[in-house]
Amino acid sequence: MTEYQHWIDGAWVAPALGERFETVNPYTGEAWATLAKGSAADIDRAVAAAKAAFDDWARTTPTARGRLLMKLADIVEREAERLGEIEVRDNGKLITEMAGQTAYMAQWYRYYGGLADKVEGAVLPSDKPGIFNFTRHEPMGVVGIITPWNSPLLLLSWKLAPALAAGCTCVIKPSEFTSASTLEFMALVQEAGIPPGVVNVVTGYGAQAGAPLVEHPDVAKISFTGSDISGQKINEMAARSFKHVSLELGGKSPNIVFEDADIEAAVMGAISGIFAATGQTCIAGSRLLLQRSIHDDFVKRLVTVAGEATIGDPMSRDTHVGPVTTPPQYRKILDYIDVAKSEGATCVLGGGPHDGPGGQFVQPTIFTGVDNTMRIAQEEVFGPVLSVIPFETEEDAVRIGNDVNFGLAAGVWTTDIGRAIRMSERLRVGTVWVNTYRAVSFMSPFGGTKRSGMGRESGAEAIKEYLQTKSVWIAQETSVANPFVMR
Ligand code: NAD
Repeated sequence: MTEYQHWIDGAWVAPALGERFETVNPYTGEAWATLAKGSAADIDRAVAAAKAAFDDWARTTPTARGRLLMKLADIVEREAERLGEIEVRDNGKLITEMAGQTAYMAQWYRYYGGLADKVEGAVLPSDKPGIFNFTRHEPMGVVGIITPWNSPLLLLSWKLAPALAAGCTCVIKPSEFTSASTLEFMALVQEAGIPPGVVNVVTGYGAQAGAPLVEHPDVAKISFTGSDISGQKINEMAARSFKHVSLELGGKSPNIVFEDADIEAAVMGAISGIFAATGQTCIAGSRLLLQRSIHDDFVKRLVTVAGEATIGDPMSRDTHVGPVTTPPQYRKILDYIDVAKSEGATCVLGGGPHDGPGGQFVQPTIFTGVDNTMRIAQEEVFGPVLSVIPFETEEDAVRIGNDVNFGLAAGVWTTDIGRAIRMSERLRVGTVWVNTYRAVSFMSPFGGTKRSGMGRESGAEAIKEYLQTKSVWIAQETSVANPFVMR
C-alpha cells in the first residue's frame, strides 16, 4: 500500500495528529493507499508556508511565472497517461475518457501561463489637475482550494492555473475520497520549478481539514467546487473573516429536445448528458425535456442505445459506464431511484444495482412520466439516472427548464437558429449548449447561477477571481491644500 503524506513547503509531511485513513479503488472495493488525516495544525503549517512564499511569488515577474506554468503544461502532457491511470484507480473514471482529459488539462497551465503577463491595469483619465491615477491588478494572497471527488485533477487545474498565474500561493484540500492524483501532481509542480510553499496540499475530511482552511485568518480567498450544501456552509464560514469566495456547485440541468431536432444526434446528446462519467458530473443533463410529439419514439431509441451500454471495469476501453466512486454516493443514487418510484415515475430502463466486483455499480436508469415538481426532477442525484419530462411549446420548455434551484448548464436540440438564440437567452444558466453537450474548454468561462454557485472558471476573465484592483493616485507636484476638503 502506498503511504501518502501532506505536501507542505516542498516536502512530504506526516500528519500532526499521526492519524491516517484509507483510499479505496471503487472498482475492486479494495484499499490501495493510505492518506494523512489533516487537522487544524496541518492547515496552520501549510498556510504559514503559503504565506511565507507569497511575497516572492507575487513579485516574480509575470513572464517568469508564466514560463513555469508552461513548463508544467509540458510535464503534464508527458505524464498524462500515468495521471489518467491514477484517476481510474482512485476514482473509477473511465480510462477512455481520462486518456484524453489529463493531456487536455495541460492546456489550462499553458493558457494561464500565457495570460500571466497580459493582465493590464489602466491609466485613468482624471478630473483632478496634477494628479496621476492608475490601476494595478494584484494577487489576492493565499488561496484555499477545495475540490470534490468527481474530476479531481481537472477541477483542481481550473483553479490552480489562474491562481498561480495571478501570483497567489495555494493550499489545496482535495476530496477525502480521491486525494492521490493531487498528491502525485505535486512532484510535477516541483519538477516545473515552482518554488516550495507556493503550492501545498493537506489531505483529510471536510470538517477537520477543510473547515480550518476556510476559517484561517491568513487565507484571502476560497475557491470551492462541490455540493451546494457544502458550498453554502463554506460561504457562511468564509463571510465571518471577509474572504473572497468562488463556488462551483451542483446542477439539475435540462437537456431540451425540440421536434425539429436531428433526433439521432439528440439521442447521443442525451446519453452523453447523463451516462457519461457514470452521471457523476455537475453538468449532467439529468432532466431530459422532450417535445410531446417526439416523446415516445425518442424514449424508445434512447432505451435501446442506453440498454446496450457496457458496465464494468473502468480500465477496459470497451466500458461505457464504470463504478460509482464512493459508497455514500452509491447509496444516495439507489435511494433516489426508490424516491422516483415512490413518486410515481415509470422506470423504463435499469432501476437498480448492477453486479460487479466492488459492489458499487448502478444500472443506467431512465424514468418517464416525471413531473418537474417531483424530487427526482428537482434534486441532484449525481449518478446515471435520467428523468424524462414532456413539454408542449417553446414557452413550456423555458419555464420547466428554469424551474429548479440550480442554474449550471442546459442543452438545446433544434435546427431552428432563431429558437436556438431565443433559448440561449432565456435559460438562466451559466452554459448553454446547442446541438452538442458537455463541451468545455480552457478558453471559455464556466460557472453557475442560483444554487449552482458564483464566479467563473476558465477563459480570460477567470484570472480576475484571484486578483484585486488597487487604484494608485500620484500627485505630480506637491501642493498645500485645505486638508478638510476632499480633493
Ligand atoms: P462535497 O461538497 O461533499 O465535498 C467537496 C469538498 O468539500 C471535499 O473536499 C470535502 O472534503 C470538502 N468539504 C465538505 N464539507 C466541508 C466543510 N464544512 N468545510 C470545508 N470543506 C468541506 O462534494 P463532493 O461530493 O465531493 O462532490 C460532488 C458535488 O460537487 C456535486 O454536487 C457536484 O455537482 C459538484 N461539482 C460541481 C462542479 C462545478 O464545476 N460546478 C464540478 C464538479 C462537481
